Amino acid sequence: MDLLAEVTEVDGIGKQIADHLRKFGIYTVRDLFYFLPRDYENFQSTIKICDLQPGKVMVRGKISNLSTKNTTRRGFKITYGKISDDTGAIRAIWFNQPYREKQFDPDREYYFTGNYDFKNGTYQLTSPSAVVVSDKRSKAEESEISEADLQPIYKARGTIKSVKFHQIFDKNRAKFAQIPDLLPGTFPDDPLQIDHPNYVHTGARAEALFKMHFPETPNDVTEAKRYLSYEEVFEMLIAANLSKQENSKLHSEKLPFVEEKTKELISSLPFQLTDAQRKATWEILKDLDNDTPMNRLLQGDVGSGKTVVAAIAAYQAICNGFQVALLAPTAILATQHAESLRELLEPLGVRIALLVSATKRKDALKKEIAQGKYNLIIGTHAIITDDVFFHSLAFCIIDEQHRFGVNQRQKLLSKTAHNTRKSTIPGNNIAPHLLSMTATPIPRSLQLTVFGDLDVSIINQLPGGRQPIETKIITELDQKEVLYPHVASEIENGHQIYWICRNIEDSPSAETASVKKQCQKLQGIFPHYRVEFLHGRMKPPEKDEIMKRFAEGKIDILVSTTVVEVGVNVPNASLMVIMDAEGYGLAQLHQLRGRVGRGTVASTCYLMIAAEMKPTKRLKAMEQSTDGFYLAEMDLKIRGPGEIYGSLQHGELNLQIANLADTGLISQAARQAKVVAKEFNQNPEIMLKYKELLAGIAQYQQLTTLN
Ligand code: ADP
Ligand code: MG
Repeated sequence: MDLLAEVTEVDGIGKQIADHLRKFGIYTVRDLFYFLPRDYENFQSTIKICDLQPGKVMVRGKISNLSTKNTTRRGFKITYGKISDDTGAIRAIWFNQPYREKQFDPDREYYFTGNYDFKNGTYQLTSPSAVVVSDKRSKAEESEISEADLQPIYKARGTIKSVKFHQIFDKNRAKFAQIPDLLPGTFPDDPLQIDHPNYVHTGARAEALFKMHFPETPNDVTEAKRYLSYEEVFEMLIAANLSKQENSKLHSEKLPFVEEKTKELISSLPFQLTDAQRKATWEILKDLDNDTPMNRLLQGDVGSGKTVVAAIAAYQAICNGFQVALLAPTAILATQHAESLRELLEPLGVRIALLVSATKRKDALKKEIAQGKYNLIIGTHAIITDDVFFHSLAFCIIDEQHRFGVNQRQKLLSKTAHNTRKSTIPGNNIAPHLLSMTATPIPRSLQLTVFGDLDVSIINQLPGGRQPIETKIITELDQKEVLYPHVASEIENGHQIYWICRNIEDSPSAETASVKKQCQKLQGIFPHYRVEFLHGRMKPPEKDEIMKRFAEGKIDILVSTTVVEVGVNVPNASLMVIMDAEGYGLAQLHQLRGRVGRGTVASTCYLMIAAEMKPTKRLKAMEQSTDGFYLAEMDLKIRGPGEIYGSLQHGELNLQIANLADTGLISQAARQAKVVAKEFNQNPEIMLKYKELLAGIAQYQQLTTLN
């Protein structure tokens, strides 16, 4: 069976379903077979209502008396129902899922799974999921239904629901046995002899995939996951190894260390570099002094001072007679960079151009860039458009690199090959040095696997004199008593406030707060303060104007969507309120919170949740720590790598299995991947034997390499 064939090769998938699946990244037979259940429902573990104990439970029963009520100020909806079996009845409750009211057939039985606990004076089942008891199952004797006690649950893909996936796989049950082996060293006439751990053997893949979709026992799932995790990590690590090999075959300008000049720059800084900044700077400066391209990621929490490190590196390239490009995700940020770098570098004779979409005289500026009149070109996407040519670009810096797609990064890097000044490097393997920067700390295990081809520098230290940020979870009900007085006292003390909302405008379907309405509300509560709003759909000049006024202290409360998340620096802002905080990922909350605590005053961040909500693990972690690396590890544990990766990088990564905290598995895979990558490098012709493996590797490379 050819796993790389179109997904329409699978029984039960016609053109229509295939078109739909494609939207979710499922193109091939392989993609489908690797679309794994997100969970399993264990139907053996139902409990009679009279025997229920608090905790996660499953009951089997009918549901009646469904009704939905609106609560509190923001139109929060609660749906109630009564679940009964032959031993009793309990209340079910859902938040913001009004469709539940119409979902059920009162005459049918369902499996309800949820948390059973005591709340608001009664025991209830909170937000249960529901699976209808099939006719076959309800008629069958209890003893007869052992075969499928463990029911896979698939994440719905648009209109394709879990059951449909189940049906498709069921139809193709026999096909699983034909799934070929994948990893080197496991199949007949395999040129490579690789000694994998004992859960990788001939037939291991077919077995694992079958067990994932049709497990008989929970142990089946555990074993299958072990194989698939290994496979996943192994592919990723080979991809990283190969990327690194490819990178080492490219050539870039050697930009030697300029000791005197660097010292001069550092001594002109208004502050002492932290030890962490010094170390990172040194690592970068050494990389630049090399004729293979640097490919380095500079990680440092918000406010750790990455910009000045980038400036020192840029200065080395400039002193060697080359141009440097600094790409930033927003006009606000690019402008801020231009301002602070002008202050640092212009006194030393560096000429800096700022190119954003609002820049006037753009054509003239582009001409001057191509003529080499500027040394450092700072900008947004405007600097990667096709009509921008550089004179002698040899070093690219990308700030907040996760904000850019692979294509955008590649576009910037490809500019070097079209420099107007001819390079002395022969051939066309020319690439610039690349420094990517991110404030989203990447957990070590992800670093080794997903970003294995990158060298990493870490700034794990904040400049001295920073005040800690205190974080508090509050509910809407605390606003009057706790929040408003605090807001007033901060403003009276001359400070400013960020107020973050999820939506731009109120809409009937959205239950979360909107910027416009919240702004009005706060204007009503604080008539003497200057309250304004900002959101991503405003025109760039309008946005810049608001941000500028906020930075100048002309706005007291800025009600905004997450557009303020990236890099913005207003040290006078000392308080942040994040409404509907449960809706954000940890990394994003951490980024947002980093907008305060940038000055010398103590700051506070309020995470606001609805009155009915309990704080999630995520929010509690935020309350406990401001350490980005700790939070990143927590995030990895809570959400799994797939989502973290998604937030780090655009594009889909099919990283759904591996538990990246499993260092044993990772180091085994790392050893074998190294051996295989080396073989591939020495005997490229044997790679033909591993067509499918290479397709998978190529996909990872697309997503992970920064070249
Ligand atoms: P980020 O890493 O979030 O990009 P920035 O580079 O914007 O951080 O730096 C945040 C602020 O800290 C800036 O105002 C910068 O001038 C200042 N800063 C950077 N390094 C130091 C230092 N070693 N001592 C004091 N202040 C510093
Ligand atoms: Mg920054």
